[in-house]
Amino acid sequence: MIEIKNISKTFHQKKQTFKALNNVSLAVEKGDIVGIIGFSGAGKSTLIRTVNLLERPDQGQIIINGKDFTLLSSKQLADERKKIGMIFQHFNLLSSRTVFDNVALPLELDHVGKEEINRKVNELLKIVGLEDKAHDYPKSLSGGQKQRVAIARALANDPYLLLCDEATSALDPATTQSILQLLRDINQRLGITILLITHEMEVIKAVCNHVAVIDKGQLLAKGTLSEIISDKENPVIRQFINSDIMTIPQEINKKLQKEPQDGLFPLVEI
Ligand code: ADP
Repeated sequence: MIEIKNISKTFHQKKQTFKALNNVSLAVEKGDIVGIIGFSGAGKSTLIRTVNLLERPDQGQIIINGKDFTLLSSKQLADERKKIGMIFQHFNLLSSRTVFDNVALPLELDHVGKEEINRKVNELLKIVGLEDKAHDYPKSLSGGQKQRVAIARALANDPYLLLCDEATSALDPATTQSILQLLRDINQRLGITILLITHEMEVIKAVCNHVAVIDKGQLLAKGTLSEIISDKENPVIRQFINSDIMTIPQEINKKLQKEPQDGLFPLVEI
């Protein structure tokens, strides 16, 4: 469904050039949760930003559902971007808007009618477990709640793809797990493909079925989670596997291993 083909990107700053991505190729199947892992500065954000062309690659193609995004006009690209949700480390909520109005924003920009906005936003707030926070402002929310609002907003236009840029890096381990569980539910129940970048192996282990390892702008390895974990030869992978950046409390980890129940989205305590 998503083919990243031979992407390179060089940044130019103060007469200096820096090659952030060097000939990276990656295919993502519909319904996958793909984790892109690498150290800080490896090129992960640049890679994810090239998918919806927030960063235009110097060379290569981004083919999504058969369309080469690098060939689209800016109007066509703007339409395509509506179907790709983004979630960021620091939530990027508008502090002057309530929870409801933050989630409603993409719909307002799309000139959706008031009644439909009401229906949709209430449905989204239910999905993320924040029905009772609709009239609160971001400043009164916890980090996990803010990220839930950002996730609801990212889902407003019924995206087929979610791009998560270090979505849990600003959260404590327990909140991280509740947000990862929400992402897993969204993937399973709404069928949304997720591309997630992180520098934490535990995040990858908790939700991803495929992994790509980026180092110094290059794709070092890709495969299923078990293939990557069993690749003990690769020094970068070994460093991540042995890393202790974040440890999941055992009881939360056990809970995560269980299949979610059918029916409603579980409301996770924050
Ligand atoms: P990661 O997400 O893995 O931490 P990034 O993709 O953010 O890495 O950055 C990769 C490299 O590209 C870094 O060295 C960063 O400084 C550089 N870089 C990223 N964006 C820009 C930019 N807009 N201008 C100049 N350099 C940039």
